[in-house]
Amino acid sequence: MNNFEEYCTKFVQSVGNKEGAVSPVITNSASFAYSTPEIAEGIFDGSVKKPLYSRMGNPTTAKLESIMADMDGGVAAIATSSGMGATTLACMSLLASGDEIISIGGLFGGTYALFDETLSRFGVKTHFFDVDEFKEIEEAINKNTNISFLESVGNPNMRLPDIKRIAQIANEAGVILIVDNTITPLSISPLALGADISIYSTTKIISGNSSALGGCAVFRAVNDGDDKLKASRYDFMAKFIKGAGKMALFVNAKKRALRDLGMSANANASYQTMLGLETLPLRLSRITNSLEIVALALHESGLNINHPSLKSHPHHERYLSDFKNGCGALFTIDMGSKTRAFEFLNNTKLATLTANIGDNRTLALHMASTIYRDFDEETRKFLGISDGLIRISIGLENPEDIINDFIQASK
Ligand SMILES: *Cc1c(COP(=O)(O)O)cnc(C)c1O
Repeated sequence: MNNFEEYCTKFVQSVGNKEGAVSPVITNSASFAYSTPEIAEGIFDGSVKKPLYSRMGNPTTAKLESIMADMDGGVAAIATSSGMGATTLACMSLLASGDEIISIGGLFGGTYALFDETLSRFGVKTHFFDVDEFKEIEEAINKNTNISFLESVGNPNMRLPDIKRIAQIANEAGVILIVDNTITPLSISPLALGADISIYSTTKIISGNSSALGGCAVFRAVNDGDDKLKASRYDFMAKFIKGAGKMALFVNAKKRALRDLGMSANANASYQTMLGLETLPLRLSRITNSLEIVALALHESGLNINHPSLKSHPHHERYLSDFKNGCGALFTIDMGSKTRAFEFLNNTKLATLTANIGDNRTLALHMASTIYRDFDEETRKFLGISDGLIRISIGLENPEDIINDFIQASK
């Protein structure tokens, strides 16, 4: 299993300063003074690189953004107030009434509700597919399709997509692919696999300690020559491509979403997120190793465990070939009924019951009665939410302690 050596060096070296305060400086200011009207004019026309106003960018947040952009091989990044903020920013900057979304796999409850309920009120239609419905996905793409959207790991259905193949379909059709990589930072590099934008809830494993809500979107560079963003499907991009060249996708999101909708990150959260980034490779490596040990032991003890590291999982082969660094901190236990699930959750002494994932502590939650309570039976079935389903997020504890606690809790 990979120890993310490259990132171990990169993160601590880029978060810490080599002069003055070692820890990143928190710039707690909403606005910034311009020394002269000429400088103000320059800041607003982009010729002077100084902070304009914290909704549009903050120096502490800018540091986080540059590290995140580098992490994913993007040209630039925008940090947001939450993971849903990043999803909304990426999508709303590209959509108009009458457009369509192809949503593949997953799907995180908030994203499902955004697509199915909120965006449909604005005249945007979403078609939902399982990760392996390649033919149906290809056929559903039409002239109104502006976005294809994919989660790197189904949360909580644990199905794994063939990201490369889906990116190929999107690229051949000339449609943007956004990948929600919240669960698999470092393990999966969406832009290298052919996606256009990767998005994160940094609230989860990137922060890791439940201290800061945040999100981030990382953008690829627009090509100098041919680029699907220069086709008529994205005619609204033309002025940004003319003005900002390879940065166009990023500038469009900044103007269309951050400026106009205001899901901006705050400096304190950006600071805390950077502290999390410093140790992300170490935590992720330990957690993905522990997870395989815990999932196997619980499976062998007779519990109904869903994780692709198990031979019984339909995407086990894909896990071995495409997810060599694991697929994050999650697995699920199906206890068969709500009553049995509640007994387990009342019996566990180790797990913290919360809606978060990717934390330093092991977390557990009954799905149907919490995050998915507002969804009808058909939607729950599509998303893989059975009555006895518990989602587990493995933490940094000794895996033997987790195994022993869960076995006693399931009796
Ligand atoms: C939590 C989560 C989000 C939303 O992030 P928030 O920071 O809670 O807004 C989006 N996608 C996935 C996969 C998540 O787990």
